[in-house]
Amino acid sequence: MSENTTPEVMTGNFIHDFIDEDIAEGGKYEGKKVHTRFPPEPNGYLHIGHAKAICVDFGTAEKYNGLCNLRMDDTNPTKEDVEYVDAIKEDIKWLGFDWDDRFYYASDYFEQMYGYAVELIKKGLAYVCELNAEQMREYRGDTQTPAKSPYRDRPVEESLDLFERMRKGEFEDGSMTLRAKIDLASGNFNMRDPVIYRINRLKHHRTGDNWCIYPMYDFAHPIEDAIEGITHSLCTLEFESHRPLYDWVIENISAPSKPRQIEFARLGINNTVMSKRKLRELVENNHVNGWDDPRMPTLCGLRRRGYTPKSIRSFIDQIGVSKVNSIVEYSFLEHCLRDDLNESAERTMCVIHPIKLILTNYPEGKTEEFEVENNPNRPEDGTRTVTFSRECWIEAEDFMEEPIKKYQRLYPGNEVRLKSTYIVKCTGCKKDENGNVVEVYAEYDPETRGGNTPDGRKVRGTIHWVDANNCADAEVRLYDNLFTVPDPDAGEGSFLDYLNPNSLEILKNCKAEKNLETATAPKSFQFMRLGYFCVDNKDSKPGHLVFNRSVSLKDGFKPKK
Ligand code: ATP
Ligand code: MG
Repeated sequence: MSENTTPEVMTGNFIHDFIDEDIAEGGKYEGKKVHTRFPPEPNGYLHIGHAKAICVDFGTAEKYNGLCNLRMDDTNPTKEDVEYVDAIKEDIKWLGFDWDDRFYYASDYFEQMYGYAVELIKKGLAYVCELNAEQMREYRGDTQTPAKSPYRDRPVEESLDLFERMRKGEFEDGSMTLRAKIDLASGNFNMRDPVIYRINRLKHHRTGDNWCIYPMYDFAHPIEDAIEGITHSLCTLEFESHRPLYDWVIENISAPSKPRQIEFARLGINNTVMSKRKLRELVENNHVNGWDDPRMPTLCGLRRRGYTPKSIRSFIDQIGVSKVNSIVEYSFLEHCLRDDLNESAERTMCVIHPIKLILTNYPEGKTEEFEVENNPNRPEDGTRTVTFSRECWIEAEDFMEEPIKKYQRLYPGNEVRLKSTYIVKCTGCKKDENGNVVEVYAEYDPETRGGNTPDGRKVRGTIHWVDANNCADAEVRLYDNLFTVPDPDAGEGSFLDYLNPNSLEILKNCKAEKNLETATAPKSFQFMRLGYFCVDNKDSKPGHLVFNRSVSLKDGFKPKK
């Protein structure tokens, strides 16, 4: 496991209770390692929901000293792409998990799946049905009425022949299917003779035009698990009602092993969307700048935003694993990041809306150096040198010519502390012809070096600043929720109607401590008073620094009592 991820094994949960029972029982698990798999469909980038499944799959294997496979579930030939496969691998590694040499493609099992289908036909447990999709719907029945198929009792030989010819491409797309012969009257509609193969002339990203029939997920998945010797097939709750079919397939084919499916709740987070289809829509219609846009809930987006593997794994661990679907507050994810960065991020200063402050009584040409702690939480992180001279940049909002009530920053006659250096007293400002303040003036008190007042006088405000004679230019990107409502899927119309037009603010003219000039991704800082920021892993270059605000300092998460 890489250094920056949570070293401890995942917190116990009901899945582990089931596995403990299986181990105690012995039987089919006797002498076997716990073996799980993570089976993404390579049709998009992984998102924070997948991170939960990854932590459950790999974390469970880790806990039992077992194994977890990475398998591309590419049985459905639409929209799959090598680009996604590479990105999926990168994201899982980044989270700190490792599949070792157990990387598989479900499409590699097509021939075996075909073989198991033939086995079912021979056993009288599958038949070729000539109902088209529309007729199939019509004959589906309802809770009172069983489904129908006029082809159910077709002789085995006939089905074998037709199935082979389906494979050879003799029939049109959609004209025939292979159906498992289970129970047309089942209260579980998934068991009403489900389709297990369909004809579909689509080019597959790996097998090309080799196949024109493809297995359905419910048939393919248990076979993939059995071939790989998976003991526990962990999946999300929507597959609960498919479990009888999963078990039926395993029971009725000569499966090399007998995996057990266990379902857990999907992760949902408010103020975002999580389905790959919707995320792709955001990307393809340029509502965001790619899959790794820092506003996206994708793992590459979160990484670019400054999320650490540790913060994501701690988030997943704290929300826990249960059988009840629920929506987690986005602010809790932010809380977990803040928690991590508060510990680990170096403190620094950056001015994002700069205005110049001139200390009129400070000698021209003079520069002083101050040693400042990098992280008060971690003295071992040492100190850095910050220079100070006659001119510095301060935030425009830290000066008001006519202060509002309770304003404790710079206004004529008031004193503030320039963080770590001196107390300064504001003497006035200069304005342009439009009345905008262009420079602020103050006098420093040489007796207050280090920010202390020898006479004990009270100075309320402390502001951050950057030496104007020795600083780095930077672009800073501030982010807000991508959507304006907590559940963009719930409203009328499209989720796109709820996009927040102000989710990205780009500030080009920021001034950072000179020390930041050499910072590269993945490096995070706390910019004093402004939040946690990271170096942008794509656009930041020497000479053109770009920082993303990962999260603000103020914690919006309120634990429920
Ligand atoms: P999406 O609807 O986002 O496309 P999916 O379930 O189709 O998701 P897959 O690539 O098939 O995506 O998912 C791989 C694994 O990740 C599956 O086992 C799936 O159950 C799990 N998974 C997907 N989304 C979530 C989620 N929100 N929470 C927990 N697990 C998830
Ligand atoms: Mg899917």
